[in-house]
Amino acid sequence: MALLEIRNITKRFGNFTAVDNVSIDVKAGEFFTLLGPSGCGKTTLLRMIAGFDAPDSGQILLDGRDMVGVPPEKRPIHTVFQSYALFPHMTVAENIAFPLKMSGKMRDEIHSRVNEALSDVYLSKFANRFPHELSGGQKQRVAFARGLINHPRLLLLDEPLGALDEKLRGEMQRELIDLQNEIGVTFVFITHAQNEALALSHRIAVMNQGNVEQIDEPSRIYNFPSNRFVADFIGKINMMEAKVLAVTPLHLQLSVTGLGNVTVPGRKDIQVGSQGIMAIRPEQVRVLHCSEENKVAPYFIGRVSDFLYVGDVTTYIVELSNSTRIEALLPNSIPGRANFFEIGDPVIVTWQHDSGQFLSD
Ligand code: ATP
Repeated sequence: MALLEIRNITKRFGNFTAVDNVSIDVKAGEFFTLLGPSGCGKTTLLRMIAGFDAPDSGQILLDGRDMVGVPPEKRPIHTVFQSYALFPHMTVAENIAFPLKMSGKMRDEIHSRVNEALSDVYLSKFANRFPHELSGGQKQRVAFARGLINHPRLLLLDEPLGALDEKLRGEMQRELIDLQNEIGVTFVFITHAQNEALALSHRIAVMNQGNVEQIDEPSRIYNFPSNRFVADFIGKINMMEAKVLAVTPLHLQLSVTGLGNVTVPGRKDIQVGSQGIMAIRPEQVRVLHCSEENKVAPYFIGRVSDFLYVGDVTTYIVELSNSTRIEALLPNSIPGRANFFEIGDPVIVTWQHDSGQFLSD
């Protein structure tokens, strides 16, 4: 049984539907992420799980118990916010101890649990500092420790790393994974940063305009997006209008605008005549010198119209004869051979048959 069951939840603000009949199951011990662009309904859904807002319809079950109508402080759930929400006049230790004091725990127990929590988040030496004497990352660790001190069944994290700079954010992501592994509490995490979602989560729900578009493991979301929105939102992808010409159990034959006929892996739900897109990730596209031996199907001839060298990889833009532009990401793994091609070079663009995919509209 799932720890958290969200059943057909809908939330409206006036005429506007912010969360539209959403159902999600989160398993015990999972690091589950709600990912989507700004305004897609992530925070609204999180607030209903926490109990700050009530849904217009649907059920939220925790351990099989209906939470709708249960006030936030009576739910075995804690929320960590991006703004940390620490008490400025309390020390780190007092901030972490606060939930234990509120639940009437004895002094000795508070003392030992706070020390343990401080050590879990590497802040033992900072127990007597005040929040204004801490860095952003340290404040966020205090907020995590305070969130976990009462052993909630579920920790909700609302863009907790959003205020940190890129490098610190990377470090805190690692710490968050370690903390979750160590403590084993179920996390529901929200972010609009797709890399962060891919790096941290066991599973991701991709949201768009109040709906869930796909729930899957990170690698499946990236490699097998269920539709155009997910493909476009997660990472970079080349997309070309396409129509299905033929269907076999293993393959789809497509007519792709700007390319001609292309074969991609089969999909059970697709019929001849379906309209959609042919999608391929830049790192799946190969760019080769224009020579006879490189002309192995599928291949397309074009010219390099631009490139961007960023050290480890170079992104090439290749313009095909009919102005279709394809982006290819090439690793610069051979020292001294950073730029394989120059602007204007004639090249061949190719890929493995099974790396392209058809996504219906
Ligand atoms: P962000 O990443 O920017 O925080 P989000 O995905 O968390 O976005 P929500 O905050 O859940 O999005 O908002 C979803 C939609 O509902 C938005 O269009 C927002 O303007 C609207 N909304 C949220 N709260 C209210 C409210 N109290 N009254 C009216 N509209 C609201």
